[in-house]
Amino acid sequence: MKSDDLPPQASYDTPTLHAGGLYIAGRWEPGTGIPVANPATGDILAEVADASVEDALRAVDAAAAAAAQWRSTPARQRAEILRRWFQLMTEHAEELARLISLENGKALPDARGEVSHAAEFFRWYAEEAVRIAGEFRHSPSGAHRILVDHEPIGIALLITPWNFPAAMATRKIGPALAAGCTVILKPAAETPLTAFALARLGAEAGVPPGVVNVITTSRPADITNAVLADRRVRKLSFTGSTCVGRLLLAEAAKNVVSCSMELGGNAPFLVFNDADLDSALEGAMVAKMRNAGEACTAANRFYVQSGIHDAFVAGLTQRMAALKVGPGLNSGVQVGPMITSAAVAKIDRLVQAAVAQGAHIHTGGQALPGAGYFYPPTVIDNVPRDAEIAKAEIFGPVACVYRFESEEEAIVAANDTEYGLAVYVYSQDLAKAMRVGKRLESGMVAINRGLMSDPAAPFGGVKQSGIGREGGVTGILEYLEPKYYAVSF
Ligand code: NAD
Repeated sequence: MKSDDLPPQASYDTPTLHAGGLYIAGRWEPGTGIPVANPATGDILAEVADASVEDALRAVDAAAAAAAQWRSTPARQRAEILRRWFQLMTEHAEELARLISLENGKALPDARGEVSHAAEFFRWYAEEAVRIAGEFRHSPSGAHRILVDHEPIGIALLITPWNFPAAMATRKIGPALAAGCTVILKPAAETPLTAFALARLGAEAGVPPGVVNVITTSRPADITNAVLADRRVRKLSFTGSTCVGRLLLAEAAKNVVSCSMELGGNAPFLVFNDADLDSALEGAMVAKMRNAGEACTAANRFYVQSGIHDAFVAGLTQRMAALKVGPGLNSGVQVGPMITSAAVAKIDRLVQAAVAQGAHIHTGGQALPGAGYFYPPTVIDNVPRDAEIAKAEIFGPVACVYRFESEEEAIVAANDTEYGLAVYVYSQDLAKAMRVGKRLESGMVAINRGLMSDPAAPFGGVKQSGIGREGGVTGILEYLEPKYYAVSF
């Protein structure tokens, strides 16, 4: 059954209103097949449509049908639609935050932070849409002039994870639409309701039918492989795990599709003896506990210099033990559940294996019993550097602390990872912090700060953490192709 006249959204607080289904060519197509659970209880919140390959290819048809009109829509008009979308997200911020908390589990303050961060991508790219620059040069020989224009790259497939269901979508849709591309968004099956809510607001903001399509599936590989095999699709922007990123890069290679990859991380957090202890602890709590540790930028490995190590461990333990854990929507809760029971089992396995290798638990360290997928804030030290927990993405509220003596030792240890997304450095000697930052293999360095994400900044990693950047003035370039004109005059 197809329907473009589902009842208007009275509230974004009621999850059943979001079981809208696929959103293709501006029409809602109700369906079932994918249950969406509340991680705080394990209860099913809603069931959403499970797209077939044919559905996915209809989404490509819709994006293709809308492409010519959208790329020729004046930049100012595209900008104003994005700006209205920002405005609508801001007006509906509380409802969106509650919805994110329901399906993802995160504590309401984290969800509120995500909504305002997510909306900012639409505001930022509304501003960037009208500033897409070209280039004019003289050829060195004097033979001709070099003119460079930037054209929309074409239809983009956007694949997003569950950990920031709003922000990871707007960080892609914003620059894509600003550049003049039409898109197919495939959100994670765990958190599709936020994507549907965003699509509804986009329609209200004036996004024309077919410019943004949303498909949900329980068979992501089949669906995305089919979309990538369609030669009309020219861009893949993926945020998710490194292992899935590698599979998608191989698939995209078949049609030489341009790829932007925002992958996993294993961020080190370096604290030198000359750091301000309180500020380092405050930053550590943000870097570790935003989203309960379910963040690609989450600090996993705390390298703390000997002179400040014991005070840091004591302070971190006290702060972590004081956090309130519970269902994300409950008042005062700071740490919500993990996304699934499998996520809890993985975190627990990493912790127990480290303990078996000699690690010492200062607080937490055992999965919490009962309904819902809870893991307590945990601090461990004396972790062997070859333990699996030192190498893997923990993706949970576990801080591992390691002692170091020299700057050189800290740099070598911090770089001993396949990832290269985010690093944190705490020192009151800015020249030293910059010197260390320069030697760290990472796309982003936060100095005396526990948070680096900013829509105005280029977000992304090196090594196995990805290819390309999202956000900032560079983010839009991922959706543009330079076209060079050689002209004699
Ligand atoms: P994931 O890789 O399992 O899934 C991400 C998306 O890919 C989902 O939409 C999923 O349905 C889809 N997917 C899964 N298997 C696929 C396949 N074979 N083919 C095509 N699509 C497939 O990741 P996740 O568990 O949802 O998210 C957590 C991961 O995302 C972590 O590794 C985290 O570091 C990373 N992440 C990175 C950033 C960043 O900006 N670098 C931001 C957020 C999350």
